[in-house]
Amino acid sequence: MIKNAFKASFIKRIIALIFIFNVIFVALFVGMTFIITKSNISGDVNSVMVNSSESASDAVMEYISGMSDRLRILAISSDTAKLLANPDTADSTPVFEDMDKLKSSYGGPAAIWCVSEKNGGYFADGGVSGTIFTEDYEWFADAERSSLDSPMVYVINDAYKRFVECDSQVILVMPVRLNGEFVGCAGIEFPAKMLSENISRRIYTEGVYSAVLDQSNNVLCGPEDDERIKELTGNAADGLSSLAADISATGTIVEFKSGKTTSYAMCQVSCGGLRVLTVFDGKVADGSFTKMYSQQIIILACLFVLELIATLNVIRHEAKDIPEISNSIAEISAGNYNFRINSSSENEIGLIAKSVDDLAQTLQDKNAVIDDYMTLDPTTGLQNRYKLYEYIEDLMVSRDESRKRFALLFIDIDNFKWITETLGHRHGDEFLKIFGQRLKAVVPRVFRFSGDEFVILADFNDDFGIIDELIRNLRSEFIEPVEILNDKLYVQFSVGISIYPDDDTNPDMLLRDADIAMSRAKEKGKGRTSYYNASLHQTVLSKATIAQKLNKALENNEMFLNFQPIISVQNGDIHGFEVLVRWESEELGSVPPFTFVQIAEETGAIVEIGTWIFETGCRFLKRMNEINPDIIMSINVSPVQLKRKDFIDKVRRTINVFQVNPANIQIEITETSLVEFIDGNNDTIQKLADMGIALALDDFGTGYSSFGYLKDMPIKTLKVDKSFVDEICSKHKDYQITGSIIDMVKNLGIKTVVEGVESIEQYNILAEMKCDYIQGFLMSKPLNASDAMEFVETYEELHKPSRRSLEENSQKLAVERLEREKHRAEQA
Ligand code: C2E
Ligand code: CA
Ligand code: CA
Repeated sequence: MIKNAFKASFIKRIIALIFIFNVIFVALFVGMTFIITKSNISGDVNSVMVNSSESASDAVMEYISGMSDRLRILAISSDTAKLLANPDTADSTPVFEDMDKLKSSYGGPAAIWCVSEKNGGYFADGGVSGTIFTEDYEWFADAERSSLDSPMVYVINDAYKRFVECDSQVILVMPVRLNGEFVGCAGIEFPAKMLSENISRRIYTEGVYSAVLDQSNNVLCGPEDDERIKELTGNAADGLSSLAADISATGTIVEFKSGKTTSYAMCQVSCGGLRVLTVFDGKVADGSFTKMYSQQIIILACLFVLELIATLNVIRHEAKDIPEISNSIAEISAGNYNFRINSSSENEIGLIAKSVDDLAQTLQDKNAVIDDYMTLDPTTGLQNRYKLYEYIEDLMVSRDESRKRFALLFIDIDNFKWITETLGHRHGDEFLKIFGQRLKAVVPRVFRFSGDEFVILADFNDDFGIIDELIRNLRSEFIEPVEILNDKLYVQFSVGISIYPDDDTNPDMLLRDADIAMSRAKEKGKGRTSYYNASLHQTVLSKATIAQKLNKALENNEMFLNFQPIISVQNGDIHGFEVLVRWESEELGSVPPFTFVQIAEETGAIVEIGTWIFETGCRFLKRMNEINPDIIMSINVSPVQLKRKDFIDKVRRTINVFQVNPANIQIEITETSLVEFIDGNNDTIQKLADMGIALALDDFGTGYSSFGYLKDMPIKTLKVDKSFVDEICSKHKDYQITGSIIDMVKNLGIKTVVEGVESIEQYNILAEMKCDYIQGFLMSKPLNASDAMEFVETYEELHKPSRRSLEENSQKLAVERLEREKHRAEQA
């Protein structure tokens, strides 16, 4: 959350700031553009007006002087003069030819003509001739009087149309002289609208219109867009005339209103006294301003968007490490120093990212130092048992996926006690160091477990030959003696091997198995190796095969139960039986419960098998109680069964169906599962106790072995594990521990059963310790159902232990043991 808020606020803040700055910038830009454009526009109006107006009057001037030049050619021609001096006799042909030539060389004039002074006869282009009354035409009188050699300009409106039919026309007139004598005049006539056509060729600006007016402000020719001119000049009939009349000064721009817009007008006097009126439509001027203005704004808006996108990308690029940095810091504070940002940016944020990486590296290095300190054994420099557990767990996790086995080798130096006694403790440590180094020279994963015990983890690819070879290599490291204090020590060691996952799937159990195997190896003599599960070593039954066959075991009637008597030490009576399951698989042969129970737990098959065991056990209990109502049946229940919600219901139903007394049922659970129940809030244990069923804690001493929880749980019996009894006669420590366990639980009102008693010596010690019950081969091996029934029926007469029977049994078992060991040694 914090991480996200930081991310959001940082980027958002920057974006907001940039946005505000941009808006201010755009506002300023728009404002200034507005002002500048506005002033440019007014400047533009002036130049448009002046340029257009001058162009218009120039156009008029050019057209008229072009015509004048042609007229002059006609007027000064001797043929023209001769013709006009003697109109009756002179040949008119060359003059007509001249007129035609002139007319066609300069498009436009409506007519070219000359008028004789003598009789008012005229000659017009196209070979036309006739008579006019010269006194009726002021231009004729003007020409006669004129001393000028340039044409005079006249405007003719409707009244005196002579040669051409049109609205307004312009006449250029020039006197013709023969030897200095006035003989007539020549003229050119053209429609006034020719001037407009020439003007419009010269004006390009939209909204600019020009008109030509005579000296009395009559419009001779005007722009084509009549309608707009009418609007501009207020729809007056004489709009342009009166506008021109209002403008007295020539060459000044006059503003005038038409509707809401201000338009502009200007007058110019051109040749022949013609006036040129130029109007600039204010609406068009404003329109072009708005157009220009909006174009600029669109461009600006595009630039703004582009700039914003660019900025965002720059920020995103520059700040791209920030989320990673905050992630990394969170990881570091959570204790994970592996995380690296690996930023490629070289800005400050990149530098921060690098510093964070450095920090993580430093912490990781320091942590590794601390880790080493915690996990290295100072004496040998090997990794200690903490690291070993970690390794085993890691291996188990990775093996679960690949389903590959690994071996755990438990190594114990033979006669180490003797070595320390002769060398002293300081040199004993030195010896251990050398020992560890030699192991490590052969295999990388060596751990010091405790004292003179080392553990090696080894892969073997399901090929037991690889393990055998490894052990050979380890042993050959010690062919050379270890030299300490000028002493040469020839070292031997015993190895016990357990296999994951066949032997056990929990690190403690796997170590225990290897330890047990190591003890067996020691029993055989020095420098021996022993597998925890020798049959596995030979047959290599895979877990998957067992799991698969287990499914059909019940259906195929391959399972049956054995019953092992539990005998009271105090009076030698039968206290009860422990129910032990047996599996005679058709394909696998007899599979020991140590092997298959655990697999059944993992696959869940134990639920069905356990239910069958419980029901069969109760059915048998009913039969036994008919003979001896005090006998109890002690039934092993797996934690997998206990955790099932329907477990209590099943138990209750079974008790009802077989009509057994719950007080005669005992359920055996292991310490491990009991601890799970203390931690969880499952009340199954309490419910069983409430039903009157007794609870026994099995294998006490192999797990947590804490008395702490015993008093809080409804435990009635404690079963002391066989491993304590095994060396109770030879190991003082085991003797002491067993004694104190019995004492302690007596105080808590809990009964003790000691398992695995095989000799009369063990029996005597336990009887002395006032243990309550004994279960072991010394009393009886597990019996099949009919033997167990017979055992109960004939107990008093045949089976109740006496000193003699116990001694006999004890001896028999000792012989069996010896034979077994001999057999094992031969195998090894
Ligand atoms: P456990 O509950 O500790 O059972 C006692 C084991 O010790 C039995 O092995 C029994 O045959 C053996 N035993 C008893 N007295 C002696 C003795 O004097 N010397 C020696 N060497 N062994 C003795 P078993 O039958 O092989 O059972 C092994 C384990 O399999 C049991 O250990 C128990 O954990 C499990 N198991 C056996 N039956 C059942 C069952 O019905 N249900 C469940 N859930 N587990 C069972
Ligand atoms: Ca048991
Ligand atoms: Ca047990």
